[in-house]
Amino acid sequence: MIRVKNLYNRYQTKESTIEVLNDISIQCEKNEFVSIIGPSGCGKSTLFKIIAGIINDYEGQIEVQGSIIYMHQNDNLMPWRTIYRNIMLPYEIKKTDPDGTFINQLIKEFELDGFMELYPHQLSGGMKKRASLLRAYLTDCDIMLLDEPFGSLDALTKQNMYKWLLDIWSKHKKTVLFITHDIEEAIYLSDRIYVMGKRPATIVDEINIEFKRPRNSDMLLGQQYLEYKKRLMESLAK
Ligand code: ADP
Ligand code: MG
Repeated sequence: MIRVKNLYNRYQTKESTIEVLNDISIQCEKNEFVSIIGPSGCGKSTLFKIIAGIINDYEGQIEVQGSIIYMHQNDNLMPWRTIYRNIMLPYEIKKTDPDGTFINQLIKEFELDGFMELYPHQLSGGMKKRASLLRAYLTDCDIMLLDEPFGSLDALTKQNMYKWLLDIWSKHKKTVLFITHDIEEAIYLSDRIYVMGKRPATIVDEINIEFKRPRNSDMLLGQQYLEYKKRLMESLAK
């Protein structure tokens, strides 16, 4: 679904040139859940912006089969719109009418029932993320690029969001490319993890996570988890 080959990118500032991506190659198959983990500032968001077509200044090959939605790091709900009017934005843009029954079912599934007439500032962090994910979801896409969607949430909320995201992902058969800097999160969610090194970043490791699905949090207590974690920590330190 996504193939990135020998990707190079740099930013030009007034004083200097910052080399960001230095020969990145990754791929993500249909219905796969792939994470990219790497230190802050290494170029993860830049990689997503290139895949999403927001940055066009790069060298290398990008091949994407299917439609993409890119949910960037800061949830981008419009503060002046109610949650309902935020999540209906994809329909306004497409100028089509939503199927009411379908929308109502999804609102329940995304646990946003009863909050539709509120404004973003009236919702908890987790709810805002879910609203933002629902809007992304309604954008009719095959591939979701999620850039640290749970970065600012507390540990307990995160655990709930993981269960919920995996549920949605398996039920609706999406392909997910997921950015995180959280090792536990990457292991818990992914089929495969790419590790990006420090800037100028290349891929320093690729790990298949063999835990069976559905995942459960007990998997994070065993020997296998510790082995994955150790390897990721070593790769991140490279
Ligand atoms: P990450 O998402 O991994 O934290 P980013 O992709 O946001 O990293 O940024 C990678 C590097 O590129 C950082 O060092 C950042 O300072 C630099 N950078 C990002 N955007 C710009 C820009 N528009 N102009 C100049 N430098 C930038
Ligand atoms: Mg980023």
